[in-house]
Amino acid sequence: MIISHDFGIGLVEYGERGKMNEFPLLDKCPNCNCHGHGNLHRNGYYWRYGVTDDVALLIPICRLRCLHCEVNISILPDFLIPYFQHTIHTVLGWVNQVLQKKKAKGGRQILRFYYRRFLKGINWIHSFFIDLGTVSGMSKDIIKEAKKYMKMILDFGESPFLRRSWGHLTKYFMANQFYHI
Ligand SMILES: [Zn+2]
Repeated sequence: MIISHDFGIGLVEYGERGKMNEFPLLDKCPNCNCHGHGNLHRNGYYWRYGVTDDVALLIPICRLRCLHCEVNISILPDFLIPYFQHTIHTVLGWVNQVLQKKKAKGGRQILRFYYRRFLKGINWIHSFFIDLGTVSGMSKDIIKEAKKYMKMILDFGESPFLRRSWGHLTKYFMANQFYHI
C-alpha cells in the first residue's frame, strides 16, 4: 500500500537529500493497525522519477514491511500523485492552463490525459468537498465545475488536498475511477 507523507520540502530538496530524507517512523501499521515499531521494518527503497516543467529527478521512495500482516508500505512524498511521474503542482498547473485556455508547456497528449482524468474525477472531488461541508449543489456545466473545484483545490493547498482526500471513497486524487485503494 502507499501512504502520502508531508516531508515539508519540495521535489528538488527531497531529491538532493535522497536517502538522507527524514523518513517517518510509523506508530502503527496503516493496514492492520498493529502497534509498535517492532512490527514495521525498513524494507529498502525503490527509485522513481519526479518530474516538473524544469527537472526530471530520480528519487528514492522508502519502503516498510509489516511483519504482522506482511503488507509492504511505500512512503510517497505528498508532492507526488501515485503512479504519476509529474508532481501534483505540475499536473494541476497544466490542467488549469487547459481550463483557462492558456498555452501550457507540456506535450499535447499528456495534457489531454491529465485534463480528461481531472474532469472524470469531478464528481469524486465534489463528493469530498461535500463531506467537508464546504459545497452543496453542482451544476451540469462540467467546465464551470472543473474551474470551481480547481480554485478550491488551489485554495486548500495542492498537497494538503491530496493527503486529506486520500482514501475518500477508497480512492485518491486523479486515480483511475475504477481503481480502489
Ligand atoms: Zn500490518
